[in-house]
Amino acid sequence: MTRIVIVGAGQAGAALAAKLRALGHAGPVTLFGDEPVAPYQRPPLSKAYLLGEMGLDRLMLRGPDFWAEQDIALHTASPVTAIDPAARVVIAGGQAHGWDMLALTTGARPRRLPAAMGGDLAGVYTMRSLSDADAMAAEFRPGRRLLVIGGGYIGLEAAAVAAKKGLAVTLVEAAPRILSRVAAAETADWFRSLHEGHGVRIIEGRALVRLTEAGGRVAGAVLDDGAEVGCDFAIAGIGIAPDAALAGAAGLALDNGIATDAFGRTSDPAIWAAGDCASFPHAGGRLRLESVPNAIDMGEAVAANMLGAGKAYVPKPWFWSDQYDVKLQIAGLGTGADRVVVRDAPPARSHWYFAGDRLLAVDAMNDSRAFMIARRLIDAGRSADPAVVADPSADLKALL
Ligand code: ADP
Repeated sequence: MTRIVIVGAGQAGAALAAKLRALGHAGPVTLFGDEPVAPYQRPPLSKAYLLGEMGLDRLMLRGPDFWAEQDIALHTASPVTAIDPAARVVIAGGQAHGWDMLALTTGARPRRLPAAMGGDLAGVYTMRSLSDADAMAAEFRPGRRLLVIGGGYIGLEAAAVAAKKGLAVTLVEAAPRILSRVAAAETADWFRSLHEGHGVRIIEGRALVRLTEAGGRVAGAVLDDGAEVGCDFAIAGIGIAPDAALAGAAGLALDNGIATDAFGRTSDPAIWAAGDCASFPHAGGRLRLESVPNAIDMGEAVAANMLGAGKAYVPKPWFWSDQYDVKLQIAGLGTGADRVVVRDAPPARSHWYFAGDRLLAVDAMNDSRAFMIARRLIDAGRSADPAVVADPSADLKALL
């Protein structure tokens, strides 16, 4: 009986474990998670959960009985502290657990502001885990002042929740504009207006010099032009870093996370990786995706490959974000685009990213139809006629 151990009980680990059983693997499956709860969805933490519109039960990925029913040994609050690839054991709670195949789904950790900048002051939060969201919940009271550091989707989502709850929000982005890592200027401009329309103050192109303190808590920030911003609490949404510490200590090859081959296998043939922590071959280079859809798809693909499927993982990147009443859906990866075609059909709007004639990605705001059509085109490697895209009276179906 092949014993499979999975390290990391997030979306990728949960999907991988469930898929092993769905595919008929009968040997022992053990899933270790460092958090004290069963696997749950992270995306609502910075959206519906923080707003108080979604409870803990709906956050859970599976019902309470699922893991036992599937004969998956789920160990919560059980961080794996070491991997010994030669002895084929992991250490958790001081005990060695043997495996024949190991999967690493360790995810990513939020980047933190350095302590020298005040990053460890009370009242400074990151947004990644349930405990992060619970820790900051009591701070979200009308009239209080929130400083958001970082204008990526995490920072913008937190800002939207706070603005909706009647807080006074200032967001500081070090780069010349918000969303510079993940979206075109057209999308950044649109979201800036959306937030400013809800009273959020957005400061771009200003680096944080340090957070200031009063009475042992964060009280504000000094920016690199000398300006000071006051706050009652702060959220750092300054990106995440793949959690590859265990893999690195075990001598596995790393390259922007845990390096895998096209099948999800690491440099040790008995060890596999999936999700936010894994970088895999893509378009002549390597790709690491930070998204739930990738965690699930790659987790399931790797489960199949651990059982011998021998099928290369081909990502179909898509993402989403909710801010105020806007549902943003993103198909594809916009990196490398040389122009963006805007389709403006209020209240729907979509931004189509092209490199030459090739369609790379689409940001669809309140436009599920544009998103669905774009996904089909991008997944099939097809492009779109920019003239049809730009004409709001043209039926997008014509593109298919
Ligand atoms: P996330 O998933 O946390 O939203 P992103 O990497 O997409 O991650 O966005 C993080 C944003 O934070 C980037 O736009 C980056 O320029 C910004 N950022 C990083 N460090 C700082 C800092 N010290 N002050 C202000 N903004 C920062």
